Amino acid sequence: MNVHEYQGKGVLKEYGVTVPNGYVAFTADEAVEAAKKLEGDLWVVKAQIHAGGRGKAGGVKLARSLEEVRAFADELLGKVLVTHQTGPEGKEVKRLLIEEGCPIDKEYYIGVVIDRSTERVVMMGSEEGGTEIEEVAAKTPEKIFKEVIDPTVGMLPFQARRLAYNINIPQDKINHAVKFMLSLYQAFVDKDCSLAEINPLVTTKDGRVMALDAKLNFDSNALFRHKDILELRDLDEEDPKEIEASKYDLNYIALDGNIGCMVNGAGLAMATMDIIKHYNGEPANFLDVGGGATEDKVREAFKIILSDENVKGIFVNIFGGIMKCDVIATGVVEAAKQIKLDRPLVVRLEGTNVELGKKILDESGLDIVSADSMADGAEKIVELVKNS
Ligand code: ADP
Ligand code: MG
Repeated sequence: MNVHEYQGKGVLKEYGVTVPNGYVAFTADEAVEAAKKLEGDLWVVKAQIHAGGRGKAGGVKLARSLEEVRAFADELLGKVLVTHQTGPEGKEVKRLLIEEGCPIDKEYYIGVVIDRSTERVVMMGSEEGGTEIEEVAAKTPEKIFKEVIDPTVGMLPFQARRLAYNINIPQDKINHAVKFMLSLYQAFVDKDCSLAEINPLVTTKDGRVMALDAKLNFDSNALFRHKDILELRDLDEEDPKEIEASKYDLNYIALDGNIGCMVNGAGLAMATMDIIKHYNGEPANFLDVGGGATEDKVREAFKIILSDENVKGIFVNIFGGIMKCDVIATGVVEAAKQIKLDRPLVVRLEGTNVELGKKILDESGLDIVSADSMADGAEKIVELVKNS
């Protein structure tokens, strides 16, 4: 689960990670009130959306007066911000972070990730802050340093110190940076984060070391023990189809293609997406209805696919093991009764109760193209969508 920058900073602050003072604002009036509460004469008005790259897209504004704070707040609220992480449709700005403007000396990068190869939490650092880390990794990989952390003892001070020296934090700020990193690590572990990215971490002209940006992701499987984090969820930032799917415990992820897929099992779902691509089609979603899905679940899943305007055709690819083909067939027919099936539908059923499943589909009167194999089904749906 993602949270907004101001929420991430709130969590980090609890752990002693230094962040600039700031307040969230939902209106221009609140933005001005927030600015009044902050000392100094420089403020930053920051769009809060679940995506990075806001700076370059005009979502981070430096204001030198309260009038400017208001003007920027008016400009940003309601604006659809398109950054390299939002996709071309962008995201509407509904909240702002009003923060004290910091006299930046230099920007650094700190990221905490879970590294699959070492099976450890890894803290990465670079003196190339502000830019995207992917770019640094591609052009100057030698400028990225890593500390692999042993979970039995946690991050040790010498590791933080080594990382701070490696990324060339000035000598007089090393201790501060060490404290920063250790606190960040503690927050990451305690809150079951899956990612914590501070880009940039800055040293300031007045001697501080702090997080100017914060991106925290939390492991959804651990949210049951973090009620405080769960409360930070902002449904406005999530795909409505994915929210609907999560209510029915479906593994659904919206994608930007036009072929809706309903599949059982994550492996088969991945393979189905691959084969659609193989025939030059583009899947509109990943959907695994799960092993023991009920008719209700299948019906809701099918309705979610149908509700997606981008979907120009649907491919149902089921291998009935634990899942029975007749359950799938009934769910599909029920959904089609509730929402008119106005797009081509290709179904490939195999496995338990396949004959019964086919019979239910045949007798439903729905316009269904049946397929003998996965490849056959993929080829057919790609062709049908192309001609529709
Ligand atoms: P994004 O990563 O989405 O572009 P950031 O929060 O990293 O957004 O902000 C972009 C840039 O804006 C930062 O690299 C920094 O140079 C500047 N910036 C952000 N917050 C502040 C602040 N409080 N004071 C001064 N400059 C800031
Ligand atoms: Mg940033």
